[in-house]
Amino acid sequence: MISAALLGSTRREARELEQLIHGDSSYAVTLLPMRSLDEVTKKVEKGEIDVILLDLQGVYPSSGTFKQLYEQSCGVPIIVLTDDDDENLALSAVQAGAQDFLIKGEIDKNALLRSIRYSIERSRLAAQLEVSRRLERHLAQHDFLTGLPNRLLFLDRLQQALRHASRMEKRIAVLFLDLDSFKRINDTLGHGTGDQLLKGVARRLCDTIRESDTVARMGGDEFTIILFDTKDSYDAAKIAKKILDVISAPFFIDGHELFVTASIGISMYPGDGIDADSIIKRADIAMYRAKGCGKNNFKLYKLSMDATFFEHLTLENSLRRAITNNELVTHFQPQICLKTGAVSGFEALVRWQHPQHGLVSPAKFIPLAEETGMITSIDEWVLRSACQHACRWEEFGGKNLEIAVNLSARQFRRKSLPDVISGVLAETGLPPQCLCIEITESNVMQNVEHTISVLGKLKEIGVKLSVDDFGKGYSSLNYLKRFPIDTLKVDRSFVSGIPIDRDDMAISTAIVVLAQSMDLGVVAEGVETAEQLAFFRSLRCDSMQGYYFSPPVPHERVEELLRSSTVLAFPKPVEIV
Ligand code: C2E
Ligand code: MG
Ligand code: MG
Repeated sequence: MISAALLGSTRREARELEQLIHGDSSYAVTLLPMRSLDEVTKKVEKGEIDVILLDLQGVYPSSGTFKQLYEQSCGVPIIVLTDDDDENLALSAVQAGAQDFLIKGEIDKNALLRSIRYSIERSRLAAQLEVSRRLERHLAQHDFLTGLPNRLLFLDRLQQALRHASRMEKRIAVLFLDLDSFKRINDTLGHGTGDQLLKGVARRLCDTIRESDTVARMGGDEFTIILFDTKDSYDAAKIAKKILDVISAPFFIDGHELFVTASIGISMYPGDGIDADSIIKRADIAMYRAKGCGKNNFKLYKLSMDATFFEHLTLENSLRRAITNNELVTHFQPQICLKTGAVSGFEALVRWQHPQHGLVSPAKFIPLAEETGMITSIDEWVLRSACQHACRWEEFGGKNLEIAVNLSARQFRRKSLPDVISGVLAETGLPPQCLCIEITESNVMQNVEHTISVLGKLKEIGVKLSVDDFGKGYSSLNYLKRFPIDTLKVDRSFVSGIPIDRDDMAISTAIVVLAQSMDLGVVAEGVETAEQLAFFRSLRCDSMQGYYFSPPVPHERVEELLRSSTVLAFPKPVEIV
């Protein structure tokens, strides 16, 4: 049943219309004559009206009636009725939003019913279109995961805020927040958990700032915040501190208790910039500085920060080029078997032969490579290069030598890892038992089920597996039992304290005994002195690696060493920056 409000017609005209449609069973319409605009509006608001018939020359309507009615019609379609000499008036009403018009003298039953039906249908479609347009607008301006404003809307809001602040002489603070080590969570627990965490962070941010302020997600794990009308940078710093506290509380996601921290950079309008781009850029620069100062803190932008930021950017760009320009080199550090005193293998350690800075240490670029994802290409390059070199060692007298290659967390999460490794082995011809993959302890412990499945696949290939930097993370001995690993490497930090530090000695002893009781091999890393050598010898540790025997050396030196097969002296370490 359709309810049609009729406004402006005389009683006689209303009766005539009523008679026209009376008794139509296929499309039942009830005509409701109304006395005033107010009456129509009230019924419309209650949702009791489906269509409005407005007689433009009627008794009540004045010249502004259509406009007023249209504004108050809440999308209910309007059909105007006019005298035959006033088609122009009707047309202008249609242009202003009426769905249709009918000339009074020419109305018949079918024309009226068809017009009512089509008007309702058209306005329903228009409403649907409006909803999808609005949704489209919302999606274009909001982040699909967290529902927060995206970069586009953030920029727009910031520009508006800056105009307002300039007129009213107010200050604005922009906070640039980046989660610390978020990639590690994504890499180890998967993107599903990463997404949940981002949503959780977004919620906490919204709960921490005022409703009038804006939080946006710029992409990835980066969020930005506009604090309107901030008194001074001290005020902004207080909020940054509050945000850091709120974020560092544990998140409970998919049965995991996750701890995450953030680094925040703060820039102020007008002190640090007067346009949106430079204010955001400077907050970003300050954020980088906060990261550089140990993460989980905030920094206010200072002019002097620009230089370090650009250094970082240049480093990132040139590292990308380093891979394609063949600037990476592999060095090899021998591992000595304690029983025989002979070299049992080498660990491959990457270096960057930088055109200006000389040999750059992995400690300088591996974190950046991990942060940017470049580590997967680097690891693959090192794996291939190490296997190629190791294949040739037999020619120089090295028999059954093992080559150990480090693998990053990100590489470890790749589904294709077993295929990559067996591909490189097939390509280079290195026997699988000569390759040992080193994975750090914190990495294997992050996602135990995943670790077990990947390690199992690697074992099927026939390669050896060792846990690097053991003792630094939080290993559960129970899990360790389930991992098909061959060797533990005692972390260098425990070795360096020997023989002075009693705790280091106790921990090193415990690791060696643990490995032996679990039937695992054990390698002491970073052995620099005769005392340390004697200590591990007394524990019957399998092998050792360290400057006492040799620093990591270029492949030419490995070949020389193998040819002369002399006992390793303690050469001067190769200088790296
Ligand atoms: P790591 O795997 O634990 O490697 C041992 C590090 O200890 C090497 O540092 C080595 O040069 C150093 N070292 C060995 N003996 C001694 C010693 O007696 N005294 C001292 N003070 N240091 C010693 P390097 O080459 O700077 O590598 C640092 C870390 O970078 C490595 O630690 C490894 O985690 C990472 N890395 C190196 N190459 C690669 C690679 O190809 N891929 C990945 N993902 N990481 C790599
Ligand atoms: Mg290693
Ligand atoms: Mg290590």
